[in-house]
Amino acid sequence: MQPGGDTGHERPMTIDAPALQALFDALHSRGYTVVGPTVRDGAIVLDELTSATQLPYGWGVDTEAGRYRLRPRGDTAAFANSAGPQSWKQVLHPARARMWSADRSTGAVVTEPPEPHRYALLGVRPCDLAAIRVLDRVLAGGRHPDPIYTGRRDGNLIIAVECTEPGATCFCTSMGTGPHADSGFDLALTEMVDDSGHRFLVRAATPAGADVLAAVPHQPAEEAAVRQAGDAVAQAATRMGRRLRTEGLPEMLAASRQSPHWDDVASRCLTCGNCTMVCPTCFCTTTEDVTDLTGEHAERWRRWDSCYDLDFSYLHGGSVRTSGESRYRQWISHKLGTWHEQFGSSGCVGCGRCIAWCPTGIDITEEAAALFSLQEAAEREDPTS
Ligand code: SF4
Ligand code: SF4
Repeated sequence: MQPGGDTGHERPMTIDAPALQALFDALHSRGYTVVGPTVRDGAIVLDELTSATQLPYGWGVDTEAGRYRLRPRGDTAAFANSAGPQSWKQVLHPARARMWSADRSTGAVVTEPPEPHRYALLGVRPCDLAAIRVLDRVLAGGRHPDPIYTGRRDGNLIIAVECTEPGATCFCTSMGTGPHADSGFDLALTEMVDDSGHRFLVRAATPAGADVLAAVPHQPAEEAAVRQAGDAVAQAATRMGRRLRTEGLPEMLAASRQSPHWDDVASRCLTCGNCTMVCPTCFCTTTEDVTDLTGEHAERWRRWDSCYDLDFSYLHGGSVRTSGESRYRQWISHKLGTWHEQFGSSGCVGCGRCIAWCPTGIDITEEAAALFSLQEAAEREDPTS
């Protein structure tokens, strides 16, 4: 085992768990700010990490609709936990950002310069790799890329961790986004903890990933380790807590505009917007202008917005979507339906966050299933409909 060995493109290697500190050191010495999972306030959150000791060793999570609890695992696994309340959206597309400031005395309007960031994102799940692809398309693609996003996204090093412990609210297999990581990363880890110890299968997919791996003690993966890691991911695919029927889903939602089910959801939905805040692909923002008390200094801030907010659909004279049912319908119909027309994919990657963090336990998979059932019942009653 030695630093500097063969890190051939995609040739699997293994590293032992203590080598995670060498991984941090290699990232820091290359100028990266490491962001990864850690335990805080009873949850596994994403934060800037200075040391591998801050990883959530030994913690798992129990999730259900409207529920998220940390659980001691009884082993040393660092990444055996499903999605927490945060996603990489927090890092790449921050909840608040100043756009410009102006001073009356000088007449100067100063546009906020892009902050220099060089992030290494550690522990990105396959579903969240798919979410980053969505954000890339929306915020970095097209003729007007968002400089705040690109300033935080360009030059990232992404270290994915394949999913071996899906949660009860996960359904990435339905969305084709996991649990295997097949693209969109520089390094991919698969964690293994057993009688042989705590180690990771590692695949380098880019020269930048191979360069970092070269500085970490590693060895070529034995056949048995490759098979064991593959089996763990294949096993995870069979243990998804939820499933979402995707065939005909956009069409069903388009045909369900008048469904009585929207009233039923609205009777449970608080229109709090939690589901949009935790969703790794919800990207909407609004702007706010503020001044100091003298009126001499003004600033424009951008902050996340939610389609559950009454003002979100404000046109001159009032809001278009005044009822809770219209706002829930808008969210799910865009996320699972019209997103395909707009961006060429679903807006949902199956991470399950909106289910766990909905205070009333509204479950996007159950609501879609209920709408399918109602549509099928209507078709049975009237086959010409
Ligand atoms: S579905 Fe749940 S999380 Fe989303 S707005 Fe309604 S109550 Fe809030
Ligand atoms: S809609 Fe829900 S399950 Fe789908 S990506 Fe957003 S938070 Fe995850």
